[in-house]
Amino acid sequence: MRIGFIGLGNMGGHMAMNVIAGGHDVVVHDIRREAAERHLAAGARWAATPRGASEDREIVFTSLPGPAEVEQVALGEGGVLAGASPGTIYVDLSTNSPTLMRRIHEEFAGEDVAVLDAPVSGGSKGAELATLAVMVGGPEDAYERAKPVLDLIGDKVSYIGPSGAGAIAKLVHNLITISARVIVGEALTLGVKAGVDPEALLEAVQNGSFGQGNLIHRTVPNIVYQGAYDNVGFALDLSLKDLRLALELAGEFDVPIALGAVAEAEVAEAVDAGLGPLDSSASIILQERRSGVELRAADAIRSWQDDG
Ligand code: NAD
Repeated sequence: MRIGFIGLGNMGGHMAMNVIAGGHDVVVHDIRREAAERHLAAGARWAATPRGASEDREIVFTSLPGPAEVEQVALGEGGVLAGASPGTIYVDLSTNSPTLMRRIHEEFAGEDVAVLDAPVSGGSKGAELATLAVMVGGPEDAYERAKPVLDLIGDKVSYIGPSGAGAIAKLVHNLITISARVIVGEALTLGVKAGVDPEALLEAVQNGSFGQGNLIHRTVPNIVYQGAYDNVGFALDLSLKDLRLALELAGEFDVPIALGAVAEAEVAEAVDAGLGPLDSSASIILQERRSGVELRAADAIRSWQDDG
């Protein structure tokens, strides 16, 4: 198929490579031209604008930081809507506002361009290995047409519901995982300061009923226990954006989110302290400083997979 791919960062860079490897005709764009080097070497063509990456394309993907960039790239001058033709499908893979995606869906419908919100989960390693979960909202017929290409970027592609449903599912997922990092930081510093060896403590938690996920099995041993917060799969800045989008959604639907609000305050304080460019687990650094406990155990390292 003829594909446009806009946004070649930690996630988009790998996803676009997998689409190219699937044998499609791909045009790429990013505000950082250098991000496209490996894609051009693999046979993709460069477009100087999002519009250029959308002209004569059957599917156009974006993987951008958040709502501000998606709104500009989709609807702005020289954007996707300006380049897309009737019948094109526009798929946003970013973690984004469902309300914005519904507005984009409405505006694109006027030009007969279908819109899918299709945020992903599984981290940059999952993007590289094409093992992402892809949570899709939008018209079901467009989902069916886009599915063979979505299957190239993830092995858990699922239709969630009408426009915005994929974005909502992803915000719910990240409200859980990002808030969990805060309590995991508190709990582990407590255990270590109370006298338990960090590696033995981790093994105990991993063996318990909470310990099945990536946060405990991979993020803690590979990043936190190594002090390797600069090994960024998913930036803390982006996790603050996601928590705020979840709280905004909760406000819109009048759902109390007390613990999520605590997590937001914690992550905001970490970002204010200059930790935003580090990995999303870097909110734990605040807790390490406050408790006077550095969670470190160099030998705890495990096979790699982050959980963004
Ligand atoms: P990133 O910052 O590494 O990549 C974003 C890319 O968009 C960059 O290459 C940047 O140059 C480009 N960009 C920014 N503004 C642009 C514009 N106006 N026009 C064209 N290109 C522009 O971010 P990422 O980690 O790849 O995340 C992308 C999206 O996926 C975010 O919404 C994030 O929340 C979500 N996500 C990330 C992870 C993860 O583990 N990193 C996991 C799941 C979902």
